[in-house]
Amino acid sequence: WSSETVAVVTGGNRGIGFEIARQLADHGLSVILTSRESSAGLEAANVLRELGLSVDFHQLDVLDSLSIKMFAEWIQQTHGGLDVLVNNAGVNYNMGSDNSVENAKNVVDTNYYGIKNVTEALIPLMRPSAVGARIVNVSSRLGRLNGKRNRLEDKDLREQLASLETLSEELIDRTVSTFLQQVEDDTYTSGGWPQVNTDYSVSKLAVNAYTRLMAKKLSNRPNGQKIYINCYCPGWVKTAMTGWAGNVSAEDGADTGVWLALLPDQAITGKFFAERREKKM
Ligand code: NDP
Repeated sequence: WSSETVAVVTGGNRGIGFEIARQLADHGLSVILTSRESSAGLEAANVLRELGLSVDFHQLDVLDSLSIKMFAEWIQQTHGGLDVLVNNAGVNYNMGSDNSVENAKNVVDTNYYGIKNVTEALIPLMRPSAVGARIVNVSSRLGRLNGKRNRLEDKDLREQLASLETLSEELIDRTVSTFLQQVEDDTYTSGGWPQVNTDYSVSKLAVNAYTRLMAKKLSNRPNGQKIYINCYCPGWVKTAMTGWAGNVSAEDGADTGVWLALLPDQAITGKFFAERREKKM
């Protein structure tokens, strides 16, 4: 890894994303810190630049297709592409009591479709390299298919999402849209969805499934053009998202993501990690 290595971090203006940007830059990479609000992102990038780190800023709202398109054009023109993508941006409205239909949609749109749309736009721009380009999706244990608690009740659906034979983009999209329809109809509580932070858990379940699916889709790229994609849970982290109630610092929450982005010889792809260890999804 060198200053020639270009890493993009979404939602880099604060929390875990800011720490991921800082640590990647500390490893000598050129980091593009992105955020939906330009002022917050510029301020965060300046903090890191003042530490002597190589950090650039560009606006990127993962919900806005035009913003994604403009970012993709910019990174292609200014850097000739990218080597590392960390999909960190996310929302969770379960801290308060506002479990509105609108919030559930926003959570799924940001946490799942945001990752999907950014990833699809940037994969064609990922540069060939001997070590392989990297995508890291910041996910959550709450989205595990096979956790003992908080999992989908429907065994058939679990198996379909778990098997690479049956897993498809259409299945993931259909699963989240069935959920959102039930939220709209106010029937979701008896729909067999995860019990804890339901909308957030469904969005992260979709992220995990998408990570596995993309790993499969990307697996037949020739040597020199490999792209490895993994996801991880940062733990319960002291950030705005948890009302700073977590038990892990943002620095530690960033650690596994940075480690995955920089693994020296990574034939590992399509896996879920926590604390630098692979876990069953
Ligand atoms: P924060 O709320 O501190 O940060 C979330 C970041 O995402 C902010 O930079 C926010 O931007 C950005 N964001 C939200 N929506 C968009 C959007 N549409 N486009 C671009 N950026 C957006 O939370 P964390 O740092 O804790 O969360 C980072 C990731 O870690 C998330 O994916 C989260 O789900 C995941 N995670 C966090 C855990 C925790 O305990 N904290 C546990 C498990 C997973 P803005 O400042 O503009 O709002």
